[in-house]
Amino acid sequence: MENLHVVIGLEMHCELKSNSKVFSFGKNAYSDDANTNVSPVDMAFPGILPVVNKKSVEQAIEMASILHCDIANTMIFDRKNYYYPDLPKGYQITQCERPVGINGYLEYDSNGETKKAIIHDIHLEEDSAALDHLPKCSTIDYNRAGVPLLEVVTEPCFNSAEDAIAYLENMIKIYQYTNISDADTKRGQVRCDVNISLANENGEYVTPRTEVKNVNSLGNIYNTIKIEEERHRNAYFNHTEELVQETRRYDEETNTTIRMRTKVDAIDYKYFVEPNIPPYVISEELKSKIASEIPMLPLERKHKYMEEYKLSEVDANTLIKNREISDYYNKCIEIGIDPITASNWVSVNILGELNKSNISIKDFYLKEEYLKQITDALTSGKISSKQAKEIFAKSIEEKKEPKNYIEENSQISDEATLRELITTIISNNQAQKEAYLNGKTNLFDYFVGQVMKETRGKANPVLTKELLSELLK
Ligand code: ADP
Ligand code: MG
Repeated sequence: MENLHVVIGLEMHCELKSNSKVFSFGKNAYSDDANTNVSPVDMAFPGILPVVNKKSVEQAIEMASILHCDIANTMIFDRKNYYYPDLPKGYQITQCERPVGINGYLEYDSNGETKKAIIHDIHLEEDSAALDHLPKCSTIDYNRAGVPLLEVVTEPCFNSAEDAIAYLENMIKIYQYTNISDADTKRGQVRCDVNISLANENGEYVTPRTEVKNVNSLGNIYNTIKIEEERHRNAYFNHTEELVQETRRYDEETNTTIRMRTKVDAIDYKYFVEPNIPPYVISEELKSKIASEIPMLPLERKHKYMEEYKLSEVDANTLIKNREISDYYNKCIEIGIDPITASNWVSVNILGELNKSNISIKDFYLKEEYLKQITDALTSGKISSKQAKEIFAKSIEEKKEPKNYIEENSQISDEATLRELITTIISNNQAQKEAYLNGKTNLFDYFVGQVMKETRGKANPVLTKELLSELLK
C-alpha cells in the first residue's frame, strides 16, 4: 500500500488585549452584559469612520517580530466584503495585499524535538459579533464586533496532529508571556481554521485540501485533524467518497466534520483597500524599539533551564507553563538558590500549594527571598529536610518569615555546646559507661537517646555520635 502522510496548515485567530476595539472607542471586554460595549462604528451607523488602535498595531508588529517576519513599512488595511448577520458593515476590515508580517518562522518543541513552523503571514483584523444558535431562535452579541484579532497563517508544514498542537501551545504561551492576549481557549479567544490533505513520499498532494473552519479548543483541533486524516485515507484507499476541495465545520456533539460549502460555492470577497484608513508608516525606529522590548520567550527559557541549569525536560516544561512561575523561578536563581533545589521547591511544593489554595503565584506569601531562608538553612545543616517542609507550611499559614521558625527549630551543631552537654551526661551515667566499656555496645544508643532527650531532639545527630565515640573512653 502506498505510504501517505497527513499535511496540515493552520490559520490561528487570537483576540488581543486592549482597552478599546481595533477601529473604534468601543470597550474591549468580556465580562459585561451583551450589547453594552458597542460604539456606532461597531454597529456600522451611517457616516462612521474607523480610527486605528495604535496599541493593536504595536502588538501586531511585536508578534510579527517574534515570528521572524519581514515587517511591512506601512500599515495598510483591506475590505473583505460579504454579508452575514454578525457583520453589520457588510465587510470585515482586514489585511490582504500587504499583511503586517510575511515569510516568517517559529520554533516549537514536539515530543522532545525542536521543529520549525513556516509562517506565511500575520495580519491584523477585526472580530465579528458573536452568534448563539438556540433551538428556536438565534441571539447576537455585538460586544465582540470590532475586537482586535491577529491571524497567523502557516504554510502546510505540519505532518501530525501532535506537531500542530505543540505549535499552537507554544503560540498560546507566547501570547500570554508577551501579554498581547490571554489566549484563553475557554473564553473563545483562540480559534483555528484547520487545513488538511494527504501527500505521498515525494511530497505530492494526493487528496484535495479540506478546510475546517473556526475550531475552538486544542482538543477539538486535535480531533478534527484525526477525523479528517481518517476520512481522506478512507476516500483514497477505499473509495468511500469522492473528495473535493471544500470548507467544513467540526461538530462537537457527534465528533465529526460536516460540509459547509465546496470550492464551487467559494465566496468572492472583492477585496479592495479600505479607503477610510490612511496608510500608517511603520518606522525602523518603531520596529527596533518594539523588538527590543520582547521578553525572553517560553521556549528559550525551557532550553536555558535544560542546558544551563541541567533540569529535566519534564521539570523545565512545568516551570514554563506560565510566565509568573517562570519569573519566580528565575528570581530564585538570581538571588543564589541552587537551580535544581529551586526547581524542586517550585515545581513540587509551591505549585502544590498554589493548586491547593487555588491562588496565583503573585498572591503567594512566600516570596523568593523567603524560600531562600529555608534553602540556606537546609544547605548549612541548620534544619533537616523534614523541618524545612514544616517551616514552609507554617510560614505560609501564619504569614511569618521562615527565619523566625528556623531559629526556633535549628539543630544544635555547635561543638563546644554539645561537648559540654555530653560530658555532663556521661558523668551522670557512670554505671552505663562501665557496662558499655565492658562490651555492652548497644548502650551507645542509650547515650544518643539521653542527648536527644536533653536537647529535645535538636542535637545534630552526626556530631552527637562523633562526640560520644570520642568521649566514651
Ligand atoms: P486560501 O487563500 O484559499 O485560504 P491558502 O493557499 O492561502 O488558501 O491557504 C490557506 C491555508 O491552507 C494555509 O494555512 C495553508 O498552509 C493551508 N494549505 C494550503 N494548501 C494545503 C494543503 N495541500 N494541505 C494542507 N494545508 C494546505
Ligand atoms: Mg483560508
